[in-house]
Amino acid sequence: MADSAFPATPSLRAAGMRQTPQREGILRVLQDSDRPLTVEEIWERMPERRSGLPTVYRNLERFVQEGWAESILGSDQVMRFVRCDSRHHHHLQCERCGRTAEVDACGLEASLRHLEELSGFTITRHQLLLFGLCRACRAGA
Ligand SMILES: [Zn+2]
Ligand SMILES: [Zn+2]
Ligand SMILES: [Zn+2]
Repeated sequence: MADSAFPATPSLRAAGMRQTPQREGILRVLQDSDRPLTVEEIWERMPERRSGLPTVYRNLERFVQEGWAESILGSDQVMRFVRCDSRHHHHLQCERCGRTAEVDACGLEASLRHLEELSGFTITRHQLLLFGLCRACRAGA
C-alpha cells in the first residue's frame, strides 16, 4: 500500500526547513514503523539524540502541517504519530496489535456532496480513521 508517487523522504529543503540529522532521523523512524509511535518512542529510536523531546515534538507538528505525518489519538487517549505517504488518504488501525495501514482510496465524495446539500456547508476537508482487525490478527483470531 506504500506505492505512490510520493517520495519516501520528503524534501525538507523544498518545504523551507533546514535538513538536519534530527529531522531526517524522525522521518526515518516513522517510515520504519508499521504502527503509530509516541514522541518518546520516536525519540528513543533516533540514532542520535542531540535534541530533547520538545524539539522532536515541534518538528513533528511541522511534519503534520506538511502532510508528512499525522497524529492519531489512541483509545488509551495517548497521542501517537504515523507517517503519511500519499496526498489524500485515510488510515486504518488494527484494534488488536495497533498496526496501521494507509489507503489511497477515499470513496466519500458522493456522500460528502450529499452532506453539503443537507447542511448548507461547503466541506473543505475531512479526516477519517478506520478501526478493525488486520490480516495477521484476523488469521490468529
Ligand atoms: Zn496520514
Ligand atoms: Zn493486528
Ligand atoms: Zn477521504
